[in-house]
Amino acid sequence: MNVIAIDGPAASGKSSVAHLVAERLGWTFVNTGNMYRAMTWAILQRGVDPADSEGVARAAAEVSIDFDTANGQSTIRIDGRPPGPELTGDEVNKSVSIVAAVPAVRERLVASQRALAVLGPLVMEGRDIGTVVFPDAAFKFYIDASEEVRAARRRAQGHADSVGERDRLDTTRKTSPLVAAPDAIVIDSSHMTLPEVVEHVLAVLRGRGLASSSAW
Ligand code: C5P
Repeated sequence: MNVIAIDGPAASGKSSVAHLVAERLGWTFVNTGNMYRAMTWAILQRGVDPADSEGVARAAAEVSIDFDTANGQSTIRIDGRPPGPELTGDEVNKSVSIVAAVPAVRERLVASQRALAVLGPLVMEGRDIGTVVFPDAAFKFYIDASEEVRAARRRAQGHADSVGERDRLDTTRKTSPLVAAPDAIVIDSSHMTLPEVVEHVLAVLRGRGLASSSAW
């Protein structure tokens, strides 16, 4: 299966790593966090309380959400339009892990994520890509970093939300909790730069024979 799964906790650097690895390979980068964020935004727009899981499940079934790929990245249209900066705003930061714990939300988004694989090879990042979305992915990575380092990275990005609280919700939910797949390569990026992590991932891929195709 032409999927590289990159999972990990909030602000571990997995999105940046996945993006750069996809660029180097000429594969499509898919940020599934943005899908959960877009769904959360649409649900909040409908005035549904994120803590009302039945209301969330009903609203999630009504939301119109389309995923595609363009220029090496996945694209989202939600309720007919591409989402904007609200995806990383406080309101969404506070509610996304609560919405993402609702099984009906996950079922809908996981189906769309699997459907993207028919469009070409993917580097997909998230929380459950190697465990649930593509358990047969040939290449799985789990990018970690200490909570202190991740909180500092998050602040440097200009966000004030608590990564610890999101991690707690993501690791303790019943459906698809955040956990490293048993066959994932775990990289602790606490004391590594972004280029170092990317080079490490590419070296592993080369070592496993994924070197022939492109320019890297
Ligand atoms: O990656 P990002 O921090 O943008 O993800 C936002 C939230 O979306 C996560 O904290 C998690 O609750 C949810 N998520 C998920 N499964 C994924 C990707 C994200 O539950 N595959």
